[in-house]
Amino acid sequence: MNRRTFLRTANLAAASAMVSGCARKKAAIFNPAMNQAALAPVNLPESPCHIPPVHVSEDRVIRTVVGLRPHRPSGFRVEREQVGDTVVVHNYGHGGGGITLSWGTAKLATDLGLRGHTGRVAVLGCGVIGLTTARMAQDAGYAVTIYTKAMPPDTTSNIAGGQWYPAMVYDDPDKMSASFTDQYLAAAKYAYERYQITTDPRYGVRWMRNYSVSRTPIVQNRGSDRPRIVSGLDSLLPERRLLKQDENPFGIGYAAQYDGMIMEPPMLLNALITDFRIAGGKVVVGELKSTDEVKALPEKLVFNCTGLGAKALFDDKELIPVRGQLTFLVPQPEVTYAALFEDIYMFSRHDGILLGGTHQAGNWSLEVDQATVKEKLAAHAELFRSMKAC
Ligand SMILES: Cc1cc2nc3c(=O)[nH]c(=O)nc-3n(C[C@H](O)[C@H](O)[C@H](O)COP(=O)(O)OP(=O)(O)OC[C@H]3O[C@@H](n4cnc5c(N)ncnc54)[C@H](O)[C@@H]3O)c2cc1C
Repeated sequence: MNRRTFLRTANLAAASAMVSGCARKKAAIFNPAMNQAALAPVNLPESPCHIPPVHVSEDRVIRTVVGLRPHRPSGFRVEREQVGDTVVVHNYGHGGGGITLSWGTAKLATDLGLRGHTGRVAVLGCGVIGLTTARMAQDAGYAVTIYTKAMPPDTTSNIAGGQWYPAMVYDDPDKMSASFTDQYLAAAKYAYERYQITTDPRYGVRWMRNYSVSRTPIVQNRGSDRPRIVSGLDSLLPERRLLKQDENPFGIGYAAQYDGMIMEPPMLLNALITDFRIAGGKVVVGELKSTDEVKALPEKLVFNCTGLGAKALFDDKELIPVRGQLTFLVPQPEVTYAALFEDIYMFSRHDGILLGGTHQAGNWSLEVDQATVKEKLAAHAELFRSMKAC
């Protein structure tokens, strides 16, 4: 999808769009506010002047991290496969939406695998996908062993920003199959509701207001020409509205707001591991190097939740990394919102103010790029300097 298509469909899948364009330099960040079926300005209860700005400066930087999103242009893979006498259920390739979709694709995968199975279950991988899949199998009464190369905090899942939205999960909304669309929408809806019952500090899950800022008027598409994979998410973005000029907390152009959740990955993964162990789960640390090693496991039902690792382990040629770099500033507890602007975004978390906006398809580097740090700091500084003072 190119930028024009993005504006035509005006959807959150913009994020997917940019992933497909490996050559594209600047990609619009995913932008739920632009996925508007009918976006009308309404009065806000609070004054725009009461929203505290983020203080952006180099001396407030506390760390920068890099992660590789496991991306497949055709979307995540949740599928059952017979490998010798072992049933493998794949559950990987969630791109920039794995934290978001985790409970949902765990449900799809366990529905595919558990029916009629007796005996222990293996889960490969201990990121958010492996842990939620393992927990679902435990809740269904199965004994589970996780086999994993790395444990949290050394997973991609720990790097994620953690905003609830299935962004950058596929490339072109116009080309997605009906069966994938069904899986995607079912997973999104299930995960959306499942996270709501864990809005608890122990899981690091809470509701958060999002401000989406644009230099140009926010384009709306009212609906019927949008692909189902886009319009099917409308009900998962409550309180979406365009802000009138005097309601816009930012001094830049136009703004919209919507409410969503944030799942802080370090807290979420700790809680999931604790729950997994309390339910009797076992963990074996070590890399599986071939499908022969998978077949040799004592468990005859195996959930493959290896993220980008599935590329080598199951020879998935479609899987590519989409590199992301996040810089954190000193926490500001008074900042409780998220802001999205052009190709950058800010989430306020307990472990810092997260500044993001890097999406580099095909780039395997885990090194911090200092030029990107400076560039993102400057862009965020411009946004937050523009905030209105009363
Ligand atoms: C910068 C950035 C920001 C992001 N922001 C968001 C966001 O705001 N919201 C959102 O929903 N998502 C976000 N994501 C995406 C999210 O992080 C991923 O989609 C998700 O973490 C994928 O989870 P996973 O469990 O599949 O992979 P991983 O977390 O990578 O876990 C894979 C596991 O498999 C193990 N493994 C791999 N190969 C093998 C092997 N051969 N043998 C044994 N074990 C193996 C690994 O050690 C690991 O434990 C972001 C990602 C990045 C990089």
